Amino acid sequence: MDGTSRVGHLAKRTTLLGTETAFAVSLEAERLKDTGRKVYPFHIGDLNFKSPQCVIDAMNKAISEGRTGYCAGAGILPLRKRLAEWIGEQRGITYGPDNVSVQSGGKPVIGKFLAAVMEPGDEVLYPSPGYPIYESQINYLGGVCKPYTFIENEDGFAFNLPYLRSLITPKTRVFIYNNYSNPMGIASSDSEMAELAQMCIDHDLVVLSDEAYFDLVYDGKPSKSIASLPGMKERTVILYTYSKSYAMTGWRLGAAIGPTHIINMINKFNTNDESCTTQFIQYAGIAALSEEGKQYTANVVKVLAERRDALVKIINDVPGFKCHPPQAAFYLFANVTEAMKILGIDTLEGFRKHILENTGVSFCTREHFGAALPSDTQKYVRFAYSGINMDDIVECGAILNAFMTKAQTK
Ligand code: PLP
Repeated sequence: MDGTSRVGHLAKRTTLLGTETAFAVSLEAERLKDTGRKVYPFHIGDLNFKSPQCVIDAMNKAISEGRTGYCAGAGILPLRKRLAEWIGEQRGITYGPDNVSVQSGGKPVIGKFLAAVMEPGDEVLYPSPGYPIYESQINYLGGVCKPYTFIENEDGFAFNLPYLRSLITPKTRVFIYNNYSNPMGIASSDSEMAELAQMCIDHDLVVLSDEAYFDLVYDGKPSKSIASLPGMKERTVILYTYSKSYAMTGWRLGAAIGPTHIINMINKFNTNDESCTTQFIQYAGIAALSEEGKQYTANVVKVLAERRDALVKIINDVPGFKCHPPQAAFYLFANVTEAMKILGIDTLEGFRKHILENTGVSFCTREHFGAALPSDTQKYVRFAYSGINMDDIVECGAILNAFMTKAQTK
């Protein structure tokens, strides 16, 4: 002992762990609301819908039947069977219960998948802007971050495939793909998905297909999983979650679905970490995978599409703001480069705070979705329209428009 106390010490590796900074924006918005100001909450991807009644009833039944103890780390067999059938049918893939590991939400799949397949020093391709936990877990587990980006064209955003391929080296091991994406609301065309699959096969990459928004696709377009393409099932783990499809963010229920050697390892992590996902929540999860659950999600998509259509029009009318209609999920990724010029503000964080303080409109920016890249010449913010009703969307549009119009004419 050298006399220095180690009580206050935290392990060095914790400095590598990132976080989801969108939650800090929520806190800021809450603080403003507490002062009596009206806040228009576009910052967080939560839903203001009641969870399906069949799910609530099934949970109450499971509790009253005493399903409150420990259960298998992999999850209860009836749920794993049902998920294998449901996920398989929706995607045209054959899975069995041994391909399914139940999780407390979709998020835990990210770290457990990487811990199972990625050696320290392995390179991981992941979207930026993208869900920030990818970057956090790659860094924490000793991987090498290889962020890939998108190009904006007249129709929206698309993969920059030549750039993505140029990032690949012999050390690249994993491709993280979030089709139906957060924060950009984009969906791959069939040809884009086929090219991505071919890239994974050519370079022998293992794939995490984050399908958190698979059920939330607009305009009647069928959803598609990269795992269903030839040669992909054996190299892909799907991140599945109930959070968005059934407005069950706080229930914490999801799953990893994929090859058994990876799933078995994820089950082992479950046993080491949380032991198991809450048993009565798992019984509730079976009830969601039903005709009633399907109708419920169809209605969520209908309401979200109405909000999307209104918001796209409103945002495109605001001086300095420009956006494309999201094809999936519930995020509108707006280009605000001109709006920042109008206000004379250089930083996205400064812009976000200025708009929040002056109008009550609360959103996240590109900076909440992974490290900025040298190619980021345009400035973007993300509006999540999952937790705000139409009246407030319209009201906030008028306020934002008036604020920016006044700034423009100054
Ligand atoms: N993946 C993406 C792309 C997300 O946007 C989210 C949540 O916002 C998740 C995964 C995790 O969701 P959850 O842990 O609530 O299931």
